[in-house]
Amino acid sequence: MLETSKKLFERAQQFIPGGVNSPARAFKSVGGTPVFFEKAEGSLLTDVDGKEYIDYVGSWGPMILGHAYEPVIEAVRETAGRSTSFGAPTEVEVKMAELVRQMVPGVDKIRMVNSGTEACMSAIRVARGYTGRDKIIKFEGNYHGHGDSFLINAGSGALTLGQPSSPGVTKGTAQDTLTADFNDLNSVKQLLNEYEGEVAAIIVEPVAGNMGCIPPKKGFLPGLRELCDAHDVVLIFDEVMTGFRIAKGGAQQRYGVTADLVTYGKIIGAGLPVGAFGGRREVMDEVSPVGPVYQAGTLSGNPLAMAAGFALLSELNKNPRHYDELEEKTTYLFSGLKEVFEAHEVAASINRVGSMISVFFTGEEVIDFRTARSTDQRLFKRFFHEMLKNGVYLPPSPFESWFLANSHTELLLDDTIAAADTAIASAL
Ligand code: PLP
Repeated sequence: MLETSKKLFERAQQFIPGGVNSPARAFKSVGGTPVFFEKAEGSLLTDVDGKEYIDYVGSWGPMILGHAYEPVIEAVRETAGRSTSFGAPTEVEVKMAELVRQMVPGVDKIRMVNSGTEACMSAIRVARGYTGRDKIIKFEGNYHGHGDSFLINAGSGALTLGQPSSPGVTKGTAQDTLTADFNDLNSVKQLLNEYEGEVAAIIVEPVAGNMGCIPPKKGFLPGLRELCDAHDVVLIFDEVMTGFRIAKGGAQQRYGVTADLVTYGKIIGAGLPVGAFGGRREVMDEVSPVGPVYQAGTLSGNPLAMAAGFALLSELNKNPRHYDELEEKTTYLFSGLKEVFEAHEVAASINRVGSMISVFFTGEEVIDFRTARSTDQRLFKRFFHEMLKNGVYLPPSPFESWFLANSHTELLLDDTIAAADTAIASAL
């Protein structure tokens, strides 16, 4: 198994740090050789040795309608024939902004960038420019990309690797990032009172997805909205993961809370490198060339990426049934997995929101960073490898969300549940 992947990984490690171009791919927390892939269609991945896997990574989120989704492929092909980049405005950028506005009413204006990281970095700069304040509040275990300001008590790869903060982030930068506890409004109130008049923004993953999937408690997001209003702080929803996934209008629609700024990535680019930040007109008008807050990009609004994202978002906009189906599929998987773990008398807590789901091996409810960290990571590691052997590709860390796609057929879900039954028996 994984013969060719092993060879490629050896070669890769000689010239690429850790053999990967993004740490979460390196299997650090589960050990073993990362799988190198050759192709994918729908929810089936094929590795370089020809073995097939049912995919629950979905390129970490974008593949909500499955891999090689025909309208996306067509849009990319057609666009590439006319040029891959102009560095000048194109019609598809306008269409994209109009479409996002239609899908997410709070987004009066939007600026395209090339990654979720860039979107979040830019959003806090805009918030700082708008308020004239320096500090931001983030939540422990939330991940907003690898911008300096966010690598303080972060989730995702940073959490997996046990490096909540990173060398290279200056003390000055770290001082301006205050950390509160997810799902705990009191911890936010305390910081806002202690630093009254100094906080520019609160940035939050409305559904945490980078310490595993952790839903917001009832009242948490509306509470943040109220606190931001009371203290004149910009509320930023990082919807890089949840945007266009947990509802057409993302977490804002699902929870009925409108942020001042919102960041996007993943689905908005349909698998091409795209991010975006947008929001209230008054705040977005800070952005250059209208306002003084500088933000730019040679490839921002790139035609290939826009065409791909536009094709995917258009389909999601036209057919909201996709969201109902995703919800049903995730409930089906949830129930199947729950039965399997109960039958094997394994303490497992399964969290899910929309088509995001994760399994924590613990008897405790997982509601924040502390409870996520105290789950049985060794059992997850064994379970992960048994699932892989049985042809199911899960995110290689207990601190990542699994993503369902509409291409997960009932047959594939049944195969996944059967694989989990075999895998947990061997993992125990
Ligand atoms: N914000 C969230 C919630 C994310 O999940 C991620 C990436 O996983 C990012 C920001 C950073 O996005 P990117 O990896 O595209 O820079």
